[in-house]
Amino acid sequence: MKENSIIILDFGSQYNQLIARRVREMGVYAEVVPYFEPLDRILARKPKGIILSGGPASVYLEGAPTISKELYQQGIPVLGICYGMQITTHLMGGEVARADKQEFGKAELIIDDVNSPLFQNVPNNSKVWMSHNDHVTKMAPGFVQIGHTDSCVAATYNKDINTYCIQFHAEVTHSEYGTQILRNFVFNVAGCEQNWSMGNYIEETIKNIRETVGDKKVLLGLSGGVDSSVAATLIHKAIGDQLTCIFVDTGLLRKDEAKKVMEVYGENFHMNIKCVDAEERFLSKLAGVSDPEAKRKIIGKEFIEVFDEEAAKLTDVEFLAQGTIYPDVIESMSVKGPSMTIKSHHNVGGLPEDMKFKLLEPLRELFKDEVRKVGRELGIPDHMVDRHPFPGPGLGIRILGEVSKEKADILREADDIFIEELRKANLYNKVSQAFVVLLPVKSVGVMGDERTYEYTAVLRSANTIDFMTATWSHLPFDFLERVSNRILNEVKGINRLTYDISSKPPATIEWE
Ligand code: GLN
Repeated sequence: MKENSIIILDFGSQYNQLIARRVREMGVYAEVVPYFEPLDRILARKPKGIILSGGPASVYLEGAPTISKELYQQGIPVLGICYGMQITTHLMGGEVARADKQEFGKAELIIDDVNSPLFQNVPNNSKVWMSHNDHVTKMAPGFVQIGHTDSCVAATYNKDINTYCIQFHAEVTHSEYGTQILRNFVFNVAGCEQNWSMGNYIEETIKNIRETVGDKKVLLGLSGGVDSSVAATLIHKAIGDQLTCIFVDTGLLRKDEAKKVMEVYGENFHMNIKCVDAEERFLSKLAGVSDPEAKRKIIGKEFIEVFDEEAAKLTDVEFLAQGTIYPDVIESMSVKGPSMTIKSHHNVGGLPEDMKFKLLEPLRELFKDEVRKVGRELGIPDHMVDRHPFPGPGLGIRILGEVSKEKADILREADDIFIEELRKANLYNKVSQAFVVLLPVKSVGVMGDERTYEYTAVLRSANTIDFMTATWSHLPFDFLERVSNRILNEVKGINRLTYDISSKPPATIEWE
């Protein structure tokens, strides 16, 4: 499968994840690697084609990211997109310069070589999406122009090295025939076969896990979240009881969380799960602390300690498994010009410096929705696979200010009602993240002629594509009314409910 793949060299474009997705959607395996990946390691993967992504730098400036010219001499077809086009032109002896006006948005592509394999089934005139400051002012020797717009050379080809370049972003949906152009590269030029699917991804991954792990043991921190659960299920399918999961009940989890996790993964999947009841331990450490950062640190540190203590009780564990997914990998690795910052991603909330385990991360090439697909295919029930993200510190940061068991219990009830109603109204999957926040504010109310003095809670629901920016969900008023009635009537301890109408930025999705 991997010998039938496309490798994408990442020059830092915000769209390179999209390129990988598009290719995988075609049934061909695609992998993104940083532009500085050594050539021998690229070749070892035996890719059928290489795509050079866009990127923020300018090729003519000192220190701009670059690659070895040898890459083009391997008999492997190359497609350069935007920066990829410019770096190819620059390396091969052409010229790239800053354009008089930058081009951002739609442009019309006019095809010059209608017989080019890259443009099969693409009309002679079509809309493409541009985003650049620089452009090719002189093509490199050996290259011919195969497409243009009214302001730039939009596509070039060099038959000696079977290299295509395009100035526009074929991977974004605004490029009308972008997917067709990528398909043409993948199938007509690179000659890939369609043999990648979730099913064979799972099969192959299971095989790899068995080979890597052998007869050793694996430890995994199961949180009940989508990523760790899918990773656990996949690894369990591969090596069964050689996997031990540790589930830490911090006392800051949602209602019946431990029970649900034990039911689904323990009873149904027969996984070996050690459920550690650490509620008292966490709550006593948090007593009297109200600063959000201090709370996060205490929870993170305590988590590692509990996890370590449990791990120490097991023998022969050689691997630590994590549900790291592709966006985590990318976030931890920024490819920005010559200086790259690589910080490692810590899925279990921070691994000890002197970690003695080897890491096992079977999902690190997948996007969130692909992880969900794997989960479904492995038989994990929908209500576990489609869950909204839940923060590591849990309710610890949704109870503003000081945390106590009383407050956690109140919040759990209220949150459970909100989520249950969202599911009943078929709204749960239409919002990206929804939860209740408990404020350290009491106000006066009246119930059955009696004065009450209770907590104020907040309903928070956000819609977002990437969690970097978000808007508040426009939930219907009658729905909000139903939730409000239920929470105020059923949850003792809350007598006032508000709805958060802040977007991110300037607010954040979580309150602390
Ligand atoms: N930074 C280059 C330019 O401005 C390439 C841009 C891109 O790859 N999107 O032209």
